[in-house]
Amino acid sequence: MFVVDYIRLNFIYLITMEKRYCLECSEPLKGRADQKFCADYCRNTYNNKVDKDTKNLIRNINNRLRKNHKILSALNVSGKTKVSRSKLYDKGFDFQLFTSIYTTKTGNTYFYIYNQGYLALENELFLLIKKEL
Ligand SMILES: [Zn+2]
Repeated sequence: MFVVDYIRLNFIYLITMEKRYCLECSEPLKGRADQKFCADYCRNTYNNKVDKDTKNLIRNINNRLRKNHKILSALNVSGKTKVSRSKLYDKGFDFQLFTSIYTTKTGNTYFYIYNQGYLALENELFLLIKKEL
Protein backbone atom coordinates (compact mmCIF):
# COMPACT_ATOMS: atom_id res chain seq x y z
CA MET A 1 0.00 0.00 0.00
CA PHE A 2 1.27 3.47 -0.82
CA VAL A 3 2.07 5.73 2.07
CA VAL A 4 -0.40 8.31 0.86
CA ASP A 5 -3.22 5.73 0.91
CA TYR A 6 -2.25 4.70 4.36
CA ILE A 7 -2.41 8.29 5.60
CA ARG A 8 -5.75 8.85 3.90
CA LEU A 9 -7.21 5.68 5.42
CA ASN A 10 -5.97 6.71 8.83
CA PHE A 11 -7.54 10.10 8.36
CA ILE A 12 -10.90 8.57 7.36
CA TYR A 13 -10.58 6.24 10.32
CA LEU A 14 -10.00 9.16 12.68
CA ILE A 15 -12.81 11.40 11.45
CA THR A 16 -15.34 8.57 11.43
CA MET A 17 -14.15 7.31 14.81
CA GLU A 18 -15.12 10.48 16.61
CA LYS A 19 -18.81 10.11 15.92
CA ARG A 20 -19.33 6.42 16.64
CA TYR A 21 -20.42 4.86 19.87
CA CYS A 22 -21.53 1.41 20.92
CA LEU A 23 -25.28 1.08 20.25
CA GLU A 24 -25.72 -0.70 23.57
CA CYS A 25 -23.47 1.00 26.14
CA SER A 26 -22.48 4.22 24.31
CA GLU A 27 -18.78 3.58 24.79
CA PRO A 28 -16.70 5.15 21.97
CA LEU A 29 -15.85 2.58 19.31
CA LYS A 30 -12.27 2.00 18.31
CA GLY A 31 -12.61 -0.61 15.58
CA ARG A 32 -13.56 -0.68 11.92
CA ALA A 33 -15.80 1.94 10.35
CA ASP A 34 -18.73 -0.51 10.27
CA GLN A 35 -18.36 -1.49 13.92
CA LYS A 36 -21.56 -1.00 15.92
CA PHE A 37 -20.75 -2.58 19.25
CA CYS A 38 -17.76 -2.51 21.58
CA ALA A 39 -18.05 -6.21 22.41
CA ASP A 40 -19.98 -9.40 21.67
CA TYR A 41 -21.72 -8.97 24.99
CA CYS A 42 -23.14 -5.59 23.88
CA ARG A 43 -24.14 -6.96 20.46
CA ASN A 44 -26.03 -9.86 22.07
CA THR A 45 -27.69 -7.68 24.70
CA TYR A 46 -28.79 -5.17 22.08
CA ASN A 47 -30.11 -7.78 19.65
CA ASN A 48 -31.99 -9.61 22.40
CA LYS A 49 -33.67 -6.36 23.39
CA VAL A 50 -34.71 -5.63 19.80
CA ASP A 51 -36.10 -9.17 19.48
CA LYS A 52 -37.91 -8.78 22.78
CA ASP A 53 -39.47 -5.46 21.74
CA THR A 54 -40.66 -6.95 18.45
CA LYS A 55 -42.10 -9.99 20.22
CA ASN A 56 -43.89 -7.76 22.72
CA LEU A 57 -45.29 -5.58 19.96
CA ILE A 58 -46.64 -8.58 18.05
CA ARG A 59 -48.02 -10.15 21.23
CA ASN A 60 -49.82 -6.91 22.17
CA ILE A 61 -51.37 -6.49 18.73
CA ASN A 62 -52.43 -10.15 18.65
CA ASN A 63 -54.07 -9.75 22.06
CA ARG A 64 -55.94 -6.66 20.93
CA LEU A 65 -57.07 -8.41 17.74
CA ARG A 66 -58.21 -11.39 19.79
CA LYS A 67 -60.17 -9.03 22.06
CA ASN A 68 -61.81 -7.33 19.04
CA HIS A 69 -62.75 -10.72 17.63
CA LYS A 70 -64.18 -11.82 20.96
CA ILE A 71 -66.30 -8.65 21.22
CA LEU A 72 -67.74 -9.06 17.72
CA SER A 73 -68.38 -12.78 18.23
CA ALA A 74 -70.24 -12.10 21.47
CA LEU A 75 -72.37 -9.33 19.96
CA ASN A 76 -73.08 -11.07 16.67
CA VAL A 77 -74.63 -14.35 17.69
CA SER A 78 -77.07 -14.51 14.77
CA GLY A 79 -74.42 -13.71 12.15
CA LYS A 80 -76.01 -10.37 11.25
CA THR A 81 -76.54 -7.78 13.98
CA LYS A 82 -76.81 -4.01 14.28
CA VAL A 83 -74.95 -2.35 17.14
CA SER A 84 -74.14 1.20 18.12
CA ARG A 85 -70.64 2.65 18.14
CA SER A 86 -70.93 3.37 21.85
CA LYS A 87 -71.71 -0.27 22.60
CA LEU A 88 -68.57 -1.34 20.77
CA TYR A 89 -66.53 1.32 22.59
CA ASP A 90 -67.97 0.28 25.93
CA LYS A 91 -66.80 -3.28 25.33
CA GLY A 92 -63.32 -1.95 24.54
CA PHE A 93 -63.41 -2.42 20.79
CA ASP A 94 -60.38 -0.92 19.02
CA PHE A 95 -61.29 0.45 15.57
CA GLN A 96 -57.62 0.80 14.66
CA LEU A 97 -57.12 -2.94 14.50
CA PHE A 98 -58.44 -5.29 11.86
CA THR A 99 -56.99 -8.04 9.71
CA SER A 100 -58.51 -7.24 6.32
CA ILE A 101 -60.61 -4.73 4.50
CA TYR A 102 -63.07 -5.20 1.66
CA THR A 103 -64.74 -2.53 -0.45
CA THR A 104 -67.74 -3.57 -2.53
CA LYS A 105 -68.49 -2.26 -6.03
CA THR A 106 -71.09 0.00 -4.48
CA GLY A 107 -68.46 1.58 -2.22
CA ASN A 108 -69.27 -0.07 1.09
CA THR A 109 -66.18 -0.86 3.13
CA TYR A 110 -66.20 -3.89 5.39
CA PHE A 111 -63.55 -4.26 8.05
CA TYR A 112 -62.72 -7.77 9.19
CA ILE A 113 -61.14 -9.22 12.26
CA TYR A 114 -60.54 -12.67 10.88
CA ASN A 115 -64.07 -13.92 10.02
CA GLN A 116 -65.95 -11.25 11.97
CA GLY A 117 -66.70 -8.13 9.95
CA TYR A 118 -68.47 -4.84 10.32
CA LEU A 119 -69.83 -2.12 8.10
CA ALA A 120 -70.45 1.43 9.26
CA LEU A 121 -74.09 2.45 8.73
CA GLU A 122 -75.74 5.80 9.34
CA ASN A 123 -76.32 7.29 12.79
CA GLU A 124 -73.30 5.71 14.49
CA LEU A 125 -74.59 2.23 13.86
CA PHE A 126 -72.66 -0.77 12.64
CA LEU A 127 -73.79 -3.88 10.88
CA LEU A 128 -71.91 -6.88 12.17
CA ILE A 129 -71.53 -9.76 9.77
CA LYS A 130 -69.83 -13.08 9.90
CA LYS A 131 -67.89 -14.62 7.04
CA GLU A 132 -68.51 -18.34 6.77
CA LEU A 133 -65.30 -20.33 7.06
ZN1 LIG B 1 -20.79 -1.60 24.39
